[in-house]
Amino acid sequence: MKKEDFILTLSKLVMSNRLTRHFATKQIDKLLYKTMVTDETKYSQEVKLDRYYGVKSLLVTAMKNINKGLISKEFANHAMETLVKGSMIGSEERLKIMAAFKEKYGINPPGLVVISPTKKCNLKCIGCYASSSGDHVETIEWSLLDKMMTELHDDMGIRFFVISGGEPLMYASEGKTILDLPRKWPDSFFLMYTNGTLITPDIAKQMAELGNLTPAVSTEGYKEETDQRRGSGIYDRSMEAIKNLKAVKVPFGISVTATKKNAELLTDSKFYNYYFGELGASYMWMFQYMPIGREFSTELMISPSQRFELYKKWKSLVHNEHWFVADFWNSAEMCDGCISCGKGYFYIDWNANIMPCVFIPYYKDNVRDLYAQGKKVTDALFSDFFVKGREWQEDYLKRPAPGANLLRPCLIRDHHKDFMGIVNSCSNIKPEDEAAKDALGSEEYHQKLYAFDEELKSIEDPYWNENLAKED
Ligand code: SF4
Ligand code: SF4
Repeated sequence: MKKEDFILTLSKLVMSNRLTRHFATKQIDKLLYKTMVTDETKYSQEVKLDRYYGVKSLLVTAMKNINKGLISKEFANHAMETLVKGSMIGSEERLKIMAAFKEKYGINPPGLVVISPTKKCNLKCIGCYASSSGDHVETIEWSLLDKMMTELHDDMGIRFFVISGGEPLMYASEGKTILDLPRKWPDSFFLMYTNGTLITPDIAKQMAELGNLTPAVSTEGYKEETDQRRGSGIYDRSMEAIKNLKAVKVPFGISVTATKKNAELLTDSKFYNYYFGELGASYMWMFQYMPIGREFSTELMISPSQRFELYKKWKSLVHNEHWFVADFWNSAEMCDGCISCGKGYFYIDWNANIMPCVFIPYYKDNVRDLYAQGKKVTDALFSDFFVKGREWQEDYLKRPAPGANLLRPCLIRDHHKDFMGIVNSCSNIKPEDEAAKDALGSEEYHQKLYAFDEELKSIEDPYWNENLAKED
């Protein structure tokens, strides 16, 4: 039996009843351990275990929520087809597209893309990375969105799309809403970051019917922290969204931004027990506040030692508590470091600018311009900006023993000097907005990031070398 069929058979058993679910979960776990630990040779034993427990925690969290009746059978089956078979393993059709892409361009196509179809938002959070505001209406028109989605789907074989914003549920263009994306591409899976305030019972019902979109609802902590950054009453509205999603058994996640102000709260298990154990979240994405966007400030950034504490917390959460938390920086062992610049993903914003990463607010190419010149989004992957970014990633991973420290993988933040070297050596790099332009020209900003990087290195390199570096 082919691997994908074996997994799909197991997943059907998962959904049948508790007894077969228990059996199938054990089989999947065994397969994971064999693939990610026993047969794996690339990483140290400790990194192998971090990676294995990271994936296992997703399985365990999902099983707990299925047992609690929080995920419908229909949704789980659809997610297995699109997310596991279509995106993670790769359907036959997708594997063919990927092979043809590699043959033609010499690199693997990215596995996912993040798109922010609109900058519109109904909130005005402090330090919003998108500088979003109700006054801004930059939006990718549906016809363009449709055209580029078709290219990403058909030419790159992408089956996993992340939708960000602005607030995606405010997207409206040519009679379409954001839910028309998963509706039009039913063989793909969509993860949508949302502030949750617009998830009414009707929107939740539509998501349940679609079965290939999961919302990650933003929070900053509990009521006090959320309302303080997002506005009064927003926490209660996000709780209402969660209630509406649970009522129709749509699995949801939580998205949290770690700042200097809430870092302590995020190292306390209570926080995770609340969102996973009590509220029934199926996953959590943690972003560390990045000094970009509206009123960008290095003051809100967590300190290097707070970041290290959060890494230790992440490790304990996946190893011991089996809650699926992914921290974009501290979980980089899971994806071999930085995945920007098309190595694993890239980002398209509300102006259709093509950027290496959501947190790198600089670009060279724009989808609209490329199409006007008879080119494709794919061409952007070969700009000097993207190519130099990927070369940096490759060189980083080849560092001699004790090897690349995957605890500080970030091109723009953890290696800001290298990043500035790339920016200065490329032609015609443009900032995404005024704030990005100001940051680029601020020597004080760069100096603060250089100092952050030095301190981070002094904390995390000894730990990496002693505990996580490959033995030989
Ligand atoms: S952080 Fe999100 S919810 Fe808040 S203003 Fe920005 S886009 Fe809107
Ligand atoms: S640049 Fe930083 S945030 Fe972006 S993918 Fe790389 S490590 Fe992640």
